Amino acid sequence: MASLLVRSLRTIGKFSLATVIGMGLVAGDTLAQQAAPSPGSAKAVFGAVTLPTQGSPQSLGFYAKGCLAGAVALPADGPTWQAMRLSRNRRWGRPEMIGLLERLSRDAAKNDGWPGLLVGDISQPRGGPMANGHASHQIGLDADVWLTPMPRHKMTAEEREALPFTTMLAKDKFLTINDKVWTPAHARLLMRAASYPEVERIFVNPAIKKRMCEAWTGDRTNLGKLRPEYGHDSHFHIRIRCPAGSAGCTGQAPVTAGDGCDKTLAWWFGPEPWAKPKPSTKPPQKPREVMVSDLPKACQAVLAAPPVASARAATFGAKTADATAETDAMPVSGNTPPGQIPQQ
Ligand SMILES: [Zn+2]
Repeated sequence: MASLLVRSLRTIGKFSLATVIGMGLVAGDTLAQQAAPSPGSAKAVFGAVTLPTQGSPQSLGFYAKGCLAGAVALPADGPTWQAMRLSRNRRWGRPEMIGLLERLSRDAAKNDGWPGLLVGDISQPRGGPMANGHASHQIGLDADVWLTPMPRHKMTAEEREALPFTTMLAKDKFLTINDKVWTPAHARLLMRAASYPEVERIFVNPAIKKRMCEAWTGDRTNLGKLRPEYGHDSHFHIRIRCPAGSAGCTGQAPVTAGDGCDKTLAWWFGPEPWAKPKPSTKPPQKPREVMVSDLPKACQAVLAAPPVASARAATFGAKTADATAETDAMPVSGNTPPGQIPQQ
């Protein structure tokens, strides 16, 4: 592994380091500078829906091409988590996903020295493509968690909009962990997340995967679930499998055996992932926007189905004591707090 990386780093010498680092920071699913979706596109249609459908949860289609019925919301606050960027209205998911996040938050607080989770985007109320930020997250089985520990105090809605992301990467160095921000608790949190059987993949920056490969001394059985990917240097992305009995949900093959600390990781440290596309003689073609008709047929029915009575009624655990009044204090639909720039 180490020699592979050294060799790859030698071959990258000819490339501009600044370009490579820059691309590493902006590529991936946190990319925000995207063209506004056209009216009628799937991004525009799903982005305009503020409430989920009634009825039992259904993930329809694939992580990157589908929609979601019967979603529930992660409560904006819990003892060991706080949901971020509430104005985006993307804290919706399958109950299995929301339950897993709550469990991870409790387990990590109890065992891993991680005080609580800051939870980023999960899915829109009816899933579907998002106007910005992600290719996946469409069927309620993906969730982003910040690599920043939860602060002690309960943040206001405004603080949750404004808190900047903290990269785990060193500035001005190629794919290198910044040891001033990265801690052993980060590593424990990732391996805790990977330990649950329903979690099939966790996307992290290649530098984070490399650090885990080099430094994790515990059980490595689930290390292969950590998948190197562009971006993902200030958050990680949890993907769970299609829950049992979910017809219509298209799963993904589980990761291959092994810890993934091999040439598939070394590839990220070579020039190929960062190479500019070869200049073409043909004029670049704008990719066609995804329309609702491109998604599974059942997604049209999901869009047409009646909504739940309120976001609160569809908040996970709303009927139990630990998720009541707190969630009402937070905006739940497309509201943007005064002074904030809308993200979508
Ligand atoms: Zn993500």
